[in-house]
Amino acid sequence: MSWNRPLMIVLLAAVLALTWWRLQPADDEIRRSQLLMGTVVEIMAGGRPAGQLEDAVDAAFAEMARLDLLFSSYRPDSEVSRLSQSTNGGTVSAETAAVIALGLEVARRSGGAFDLTLGRLKSIWGLEQEHPAVPDRQAVTDALAGIGPNALSLDGRQLGKREPQLQIDLGGIAKGYAVDRAIAVLREQGVASAAVNAGGDMYLLGQRPERPWRIGIQHPRMKDAVLETVEVRDRAVVTSGDYERFFEQDGQRYHHIFDPQSGFPARGCQSVTVITDSVALGDALATALFVLGPQEGLRLLDQYPGTEALIVAADGSLHASAGWTKYPVSP
Ligand code: ADP
Ligand code: MG
Repeated sequence: MSWNRPLMIVLLAAVLALTWWRLQPADDEIRRSQLLMGTVVEIMAGGRPAGQLEDAVDAAFAEMARLDLLFSSYRPDSEVSRLSQSTNGGTVSAETAAVIALGLEVARRSGGAFDLTLGRLKSIWGLEQEHPAVPDRQAVTDALAGIGPNALSLDGRQLGKREPQLQIDLGGIAKGYAVDRAIAVLREQGVASAAVNAGGDMYLLGQRPERPWRIGIQHPRMKDAVLETVEVRDRAVVTSGDYERFFEQDGQRYHHIFDPQSGFPARGCQSVTVITDSVALGDALATALFVLGPQEGLRLLDQYPGTEALIVAADGSLHASAGWTKYPVSP
């Protein structure tokens, strides 16, 4: 099979931030951004004197940078990289164990649609490299060998790998956990009104001075268009889309959310937005629902009371969970 080099490489890590950019900070709010975990992380905070807000936001960014040192697959000395290099696993920090435990739970409940062991698959697709291309079938088959919800075992802080070649990838959940931790740090510093957005993984704390948080969900096919505006308070709002990181080859779009059964990008959805209590859970669920597609995806949500989702299917049709209706407002 012969493939052309990719016709186009589009890396829009912060596309979901588009509507976010329109949120102008009020006089008593600050907005700061940093490049962290491969994306633009933005923090808005308000309701305190500017000096206090600056210190709190700095501490929140520092917390996310600390977590990147644990979870990054690109840093050879991160905990996750050490596990990937090991033959059968090892002891991990309590924090890494907690993130992996949550990921494994979503992996099992989703029947393997969410998978923490797609590291080899991700690297052969090279989506984050300069020239991503469709890998050959044999390479895909090899990269899927031994993966799945039972490929890892966790007993307290002891992580076991079933196959030595398994490469762990927390890319579908780590950013969400880091946003949860950033919010925890902001709270500890006395901030009661804040929003943290890591490329579509968001948490909205409290409300803005004298008004609620209103978030525009990016339309997956119309640049700069808002699909729906939601009003939330103390909630995680997480979107996974096929327009965030992708390349096109021979007229086909290849994006960064893989169906572990085929080893190819999942085809059922254009975007999935999940609203729930924690960003880590929302992150994992948005990825899982994206792989499962609207029907099976909404069935998975029945196992998570208080969690709602809006799915744009591959054909552009909208599918929302029963309780979604409490969030949309007119912009
Ligand atoms: P983003 O990171 O852009 O917010 P997602 O949360 O959907 O988007 O995560 C996509 C990332 O998750 C990929 O870059 C990859 O690291 C990882 N990933 C891809 N497919 C899966 C999957 N089926 N299960 C778990 N993680 C996945
Ligand atoms: Mg995710």
